[in-house]
Amino acid sequence: MEKESLNRLSAALGRHQIRLTTLNSSSEIRAVLEKEIAPGSVVAFGGSMTLVESGALDILREWNENGRIALLDRGKPGLSQEEIDDLLRRSFFADVYLASVNALTEDGYLYNVDGNGNRVAAMIFGPKKVLVIAGTNKLVTDREDAVERVRQIAAPQNAKRLHRDTPCTKTGHCCDCLHPERICCSYTFFGMQRDKNRMHVILIDEVLGY
Ligand code: SF4
Repeated sequence: MEKESLNRLSAALGRHQIRLTTLNSSSEIRAVLEKEIAPGSVVAFGGSMTLVESGALDILREWNENGRIALLDRGKPGLSQEEIDDLLRRSFFADVYLASVNALTEDGYLYNVDGNGNRVAAMIFGPKKVLVIAGTNKLVTDREDAVERVRQIAAPQNAKRLHRDTPCTKTGHCCDCLHPERICCSYTFFGMQRDKNRMHVILIDEVLGY
């Protein structure tokens, strides 16, 4: 992580009342989660490869198993679509919500593009605390670069992961499709937060997710 860009990010997020914690590697994530998630918390999360690859999701599932937290686990095998929808709605009442971001700008904005919108909806309102875990591969200069990052990298790769038949899975970049399986429906920039420190970015110096 370049020191100069990190300094810019830290100052910008500070102005936006968003906390920042930086980690050298995913091996440090457990200690941060222990500090940020109180025992007995109801915890929910948005779909994210970063949560998987950083090990955060495994830790949440371990804590759910041993009773430290109650996890609203939308990824539990065997759930019906109705049960998943119910969990997504209950996520708005969680104590802590975990998600990642499609791009993080050095001038302090978080950018996400969602299909369902459940992730950005819960990040905007509901859960008392939002932990945003991201690898340094998500870091870009400004909002213009954030939009471009999603069009060229994040959305096509996510569409591929989700086995969508959209044109970007063949071309590798966004073609502004109107395909019924389109995954890009809600485009959200998070700027200054009035609820100070509700949102907390945990930036890991690794390549994580798309
Ligand atoms: S709008 Fe369509 S083509 Fe563009 S990234 Fe999203 S799903 Fe792919």
